[in-house]
Amino acid sequence: MSLKTNTLAHARNRQLQNTLNDLIQQARENEKKQALYETLGFEIIGAGSPEALLELVLTKTTARCQLNEVVLCLIDHHKDIKRLFFNHDDEVRTLYENRLAVLDNVKDTGFIDSLIRKPLLGTEALKKYRWMIADIKTRSLFKSAAYLPLMRGNRIIGALLLLSHNSNRFPQDAGTLFLQKLSIMAAVAIENCLNQQRIKEISYQDVLTGVYNRRYFDLRFKDEIARSLRWRDDLVCMFLDVDYFKKINDTYGHQTGDQVLTCIANLIKSQVRACDIVARYGGEEFVAALPATSLQHAHEIAERLRQTVQSTVHYFQDKPFYVTISIGMANFKSLDMLKLQDRPNSEEIAAALLDKADKALYQAKANGRNQIVVHTSDINNP
Ligand code: GH3
Ligand code: MG
Ligand code: MG
Repeated sequence: MSLKTNTLAHARNRQLQNTLNDLIQQARENEKKQALYETLGFEIIGAGSPEALLELVLTKTTARCQLNEVVLCLIDHHKDIKRLFFNHDDEVRTLYENRLAVLDNVKDTGFIDSLIRKPLLGTEALKKYRWMIADIKTRSLFKSAAYLPLMRGNRIIGALLLLSHNSNRFPQDAGTLFLQKLSIMAAVAIENCLNQQRIKEISYQDVLTGVYNRRYFDLRFKDEIARSLRWRDDLVCMFLDVDYFKKINDTYGHQTGDQVLTCIANLIKSQVRACDIVARYGGEEFVAALPATSLQHAHEIAERLRQTVQSTVHYFQDKPFYVTISIGMANFKSLDMLKLQDRPNSEEIAAALLDKADKALYQAKANGRNQIVVHTSDINNP
């Protein structure tokens, strides 16, 4: 073999070796990528709560896949997605609201129609789905995007938009298999999580009046107490009981009694804020927790409510009749234990607040009904 042929063969060999090394390198990277996306997908499937799911889909995916932002877009058929995800928790809402684009199935049909059923990568995806990025100021920083539809069966339930400041992050023709797998797992996890929350909501509702039941109140009340203590806010607890309700049942029948209870539950809800918790605590007794409310303000709300109930007319076979309620109230300042304890236990505080509000209600009944009593220490030691 001539020297020239030998050199050529060497060069060819080197070239082949380099190509092989590149392929091995690429295969290793793909393996790593697959493991990364699979682990993430399984973690998303296993998320135990809406908050954990949002953290995985939005925050952890951003960090682990070296992105700059992930936006989750969902079609809101039941107008409940934000409530189910944020679960009345303002901290969770603040953290994720900008990265959760919720589409109204009636008003946002233009946006919904633009959600295609196949992944789309590169600048085209960015151009088409820029509207999902809530913060207009940061929109121009993103140079590349991956749009991934979230499908359940044949239905599109939303999309994920993975965003990067690096224009080469998602080449138009890059493979989408890993991303597709991740989006399938995310779609399953999101749908399951929302359905679980819906089931929970139903089980926390009082069937007759539609307000929360006692089980839910007891759970949420402790959380609200912990939050109020953390923010050094006051919290007011109210017990509300229908006066002489037995007589209403005896005079007009149980069915009319039921209608009165539903009406009163609605009146209570109409007087408080959406963030206040109203529950039916027993037969004709309701409880309300008003976070971040002063005792004076709560008293004004209670007085307005007492007057509204008193002036609301009910009917039995076209015959009008009226009912009244008595209200007992207590707040953090009613509790001596709070002054004595460094680290108050929210369960003990919940029990103490309910007890004080109940004692105040008892006093309101004893004083003649149709009135409000705020707990003071002399009620505690009559
Ligand atoms: P007070 O002013 O002292 O509160 O008197 P009251 O008659 O309201 O209180 P009492 O505890 O004596 O009676 C409560 C009644 O509420 C008795 C019970 O039959 C009735 N009740 C409890 N749950 C329901 C319900 O779901 N529907 C109806 N219609 N009545 C109910
Ligand atoms: Mg009563
Ligand atoms: Mg009662």
